[in-house]
Amino acid sequence: MSERYETHEHDVLVIGAGGAGLRAAIEASAAGVSVGLVCKSLLGKAHTVMAEGGVAAALAHMDPQDGWQTHFMDTMKGGSFLNHWRMAQLHAQEAPDRVRELEQWGALFDRTPDGRILQRAFGGHTWKRLAHVGDRTGLEMIRTLQDKGVHAGLDVYMECTVTRLLKDGDRIAGALGYWRESGRFVVFRAKAIVIATGGIGKAYRVTSNSWEYTGDGQALAYDAGAELIDMEFVQFHPTGMVWPPGVMGLLVTEGVRGEGGILRNSKGERFMWKYLPDARRHEYAENDEEARQWVEATVAGQQSKARRPPELSTRDNVARAIYTEVKEGRGTPHGGAFLDISYLPAERVKRKLPSMYHQFMELADVDITKTAMEVGPTTHYMMGGLRVEPDTQAATVPGLFAAGEAAAGLHGANRLGGNSLSDLLVFGRRAGAAAAAYARKLAGAPSVNDAEIEAETREMLAPFERGQGENPYDVHRALQDVMDRLVGIFRVQADLERALSELHALKLRAASVRVEGTRMFNPGWHLARDLQNMLVVSEAITRSAALRKESRGAHSRLDYPGQDPALSQLNFSVTKSSLGMSVASTPLPQMPAELKALFEQKATAPAPVVAR
Ligand SMILES: Cc1cc2nc3c(=O)[nH]c(=O)nc-3n(C[C@H](O)[C@H](O)[C@H](O)COP(=O)(O)OP(=O)(O)OC[C@H]3O[C@@H](n4cnc5c(N)ncnc54)[C@H](O)[C@@H]3O)c2cc1C
Repeated sequence: MSERYETHEHDVLVIGAGGAGLRAAIEASAAGVSVGLVCKSLLGKAHTVMAEGGVAAALAHMDPQDGWQTHFMDTMKGGSFLNHWRMAQLHAQEAPDRVRELEQWGALFDRTPDGRILQRAFGGHTWKRLAHVGDRTGLEMIRTLQDKGVHAGLDVYMECTVTRLLKDGDRIAGALGYWRESGRFVVFRAKAIVIATGGIGKAYRVTSNSWEYTGDGQALAYDAGAELIDMEFVQFHPTGMVWPPGVMGLLVTEGVRGEGGILRNSKGERFMWKYLPDARRHEYAENDEEARQWVEATVAGQQSKARRPPELSTRDNVARAIYTEVKEGRGTPHGGAFLDISYLPAERVKRKLPSMYHQFMELADVDITKTAMEVGPTTHYMMGGLRVEPDTQAATVPGLFAAGEAAAGLHGANRLGGNSLSDLLVFGRRAGAAAAAYARKLAGAPSVNDAEIEAETREMLAPFERGQGENPYDVHRALQDVMDRLVGIFRVQADLERALSELHALKLRAASVRVEGTRMFNPGWHLARDLQNMLVVSEAITRSAALRKESRGAHSRLDYPGQDPALSQLNFSVTKSSLGMSVASTPLPQMPAELKALFEQKATAPAPVVAR
């Protein structure tokens, strides 16, 4: 094999160079093992770079009442208690240290007047908790991690796409990929692999996600025998651009609402008042006046007893509210809602939301300091992914680990904004440490199977050899249409069953696509492979959604609008079997009494939001 395929060998191979992958690679490298870091795009271009609003951590700089316990409870409530309690606990406890560490490594966060890291409000967080750098937090985070990683001596393989995990018996032995530029195959031998490949957004047409998000890590792991859980929970962010068509879905950060943005329908009504869930209404302002006081206090950095505006409800709730307003005929000219921040001083808007200002100016010719934006729901984040053991991030295949958006468990049925960037830091670090420890303990390197490599390369090259066949772009568009139309923000059983039969037909079409040209930088060929991954995750989403006959978190069923207590006790787990994809229910791990007690204490004493 070594004559025909370029081969590299590492103790730990990290697939994905976003926040999770970089943080894992830094930690593994610090443990003294050899680390390879592979990414499909250029280093520094990962999805994390697009993160805008901030990283959630209970630093308590703005609201001294904050602490890990409240962050833990907010995360569990946001996830409708389907989260793995231990992941939520570790995340809340460790996020502050991870943010401070990032600062020590050179990240320059926005500051309070007395020089501490500034924190902003976000939906579902009781206190102001998001450390941020204007609306370019991800860029600063990636820049810092990349600098640290490069100096740690990682071997980076850029523009290299992994298409298969290789195994020695039951355990991980390496991975096969191809260089995007030359199309040549490359074999990585590795004792341990960390999957940090991010989300699945490109399975949908309207999405905030970039071309890289094709569910590769989830599908690679599934093929290698790993368990996926919570796949029915896809987050639709309430505010994506709805116009012009070329940028439909592009994210409008929740930071706009955190800074005081108001949502209105075409009649000028501030509609979020009527969508606040009864159980949490007490956490929000009583009326426009109290919401205005909250914004004024926030802008001025002053103390206030005012509670937060209704626009800061959780993402699933705001997304459903906008969708409903549009569906009932109260949408904007381009089919969304108005999001208005133009009533604030223009200088402040430009300073706090510079990317949003430029995004709307350049792409839609809209000056957001003078005019309201038009926004609507967009596919944004995948709560589901690889089942991992909380402390180590070990997946269910020996030698396989996962972190970041590709892993599941922390966010349950719905993620709170800002909790992904902290997830990457906390669990990226843990995955890197555990993968290094596993690799160190392994007696001898696992061997890769040449037949497995041959089979994958043959399959990869098949689209060039077909005399006829469809264009992969047509099949991709058809897949996105199925997912948007039938497995979107509101779901019903008949649609989900129809989606399954349409996905089956699409699988057959994808298996016979044809690509033209050579292997050198051929995006059609790349898509032909990515399509297989998107079909796996789409089927997993649809099968799990069809079984969850209730509405919970981001999963809304029109035919089952309420929650089913029996389903509150289980996750759906997806595995590959000899008969195809199988979905089983698995019991949720039980939260220990001392953590349960936190919710009982708090239930009697709701805390006011104090703005500073
Ligand atoms: C516009 C936008 C704004 C956001 N804002 C926030 C925010 O303010 N706060 C917050 O907490 N979250 C935010 N999120 C979510 C958050 O940014 C992501 O969930 C997070 O960055 C995911 O990080 P990751 O490390 O898991 O994956 P990524 O950063 O996407 O990295 C994935 C990596 O995997 C590589 N890869 C993928 N497939 C392969 C393959 N087959 N072979 C090799 N490499 C592969 C990619 O090239 C990339 O390097 C935002 C998301 C978007 C889209």
